Amino acid sequence: MKAQEIAQLLDEPSCAHNKKEKSGCAKPKPGATAGGCAFDGAQIALLPIADVAHIVHGPIACVGSSWDNRGTRSSGPTLYRLGMTTDLTEQDVIMGRGEKRLFHAIKQAIDDYHPAAIFVYSTCVTALIGDDIHSVCKAAQEKWQTPVIPIDAAGFYGTKNLGNRIAGETMVKYVIGTREPMPLPAHLQRTDIIIHTINLVGEYNIAGEFWHVLPLLDELGLRILGTLSGDARFHEVQTMHRAEVTMMVCSKAMINVARKLEEKYAIPWFEGSFYGITDTSQALRDFARILNDADLAKRVELN
Ligand code: SF4
Repeated sequence: MKAQEIAQLLDEPSCAHNKKEKSGCAKPKPGATAGGCAFDGAQIALLPIADVAHIVHGPIACVGSSWDNRGTRSSGPTLYRLGMTTDLTEQDVIMGRGEKRLFHAIKQAIDDYHPAAIFVYSTCVTALIGDDIHSVCKAAQEKWQTPVIPIDAAGFYGTKNLGNRIAGETMVKYVIGTREPMPLPAHLQRTDIIIHTINLVGEYNIAGEFWHVLPLLDELGLRILGTLSGDARFHEVQTMHRAEVTMMVCSKAMINVARKLEEKYAIPWFEGSFYGITDTSQALRDFARILNDADLAKRVELN
């Protein structure tokens, strides 16, 4: 990733903390705790996409540093919980075998698990030795006709927060907008209310917490087209460009996704939270307001 692209991600215009000159995300000062590295941030942001094979291209310790550390839950596939890595050794680096190993790792993941897609994460070592993960992913995708997405977020690029942004940016660039949503299944059709489509960004279904909120959205006719990335499936993320509104849940880390969905697909967005009755009620009111649905607004007040 170019230094200029990293600088742009750190200078996010939608972030309320970034209003003064030079006030974008600052680099941590020596001695400060900064959480994980950029790779860690990218992987934890995307790992909950449950039917994807997540391959970490680098030494084995990198995958160990971030694997499953959030306790995010899936209602279906569990492929995301399998830690996959190219496990590069010193010999591989010296002999220049990194790209070859990655190509074989992608093949093995496809042959053994038939994933909906493969995400390939770069790490410090593979970025430093100059492995071209974009070209390898492109060649593998053409050969095996499975989406293979390069997540170029090597650890030394910056903080965990930056990694979150790179992950979101990659979804906007390579995944969102590549498929149309399925029609609403017959058993979910309603004649009494309008069904609206929504996105949730920054919601990770940690320990299955979102399953407590989901029945409420179902009752109100708010159909989740895609989440980034709690209990998500790859094909859902592909369709997020068709939502009527995006809710940015709690964290601002992927605020760039909400902004870009608005710029590219004219999807309005708002920030909200599902923690506590007050915040949840406010989020539901915001949905009704942005969707301009008076009937929904009335039902939100009754609930
Ligand atoms: S800082 Fe680099 S080497 Fe360490 S976990 Fe992150 S990507 Fe791997």
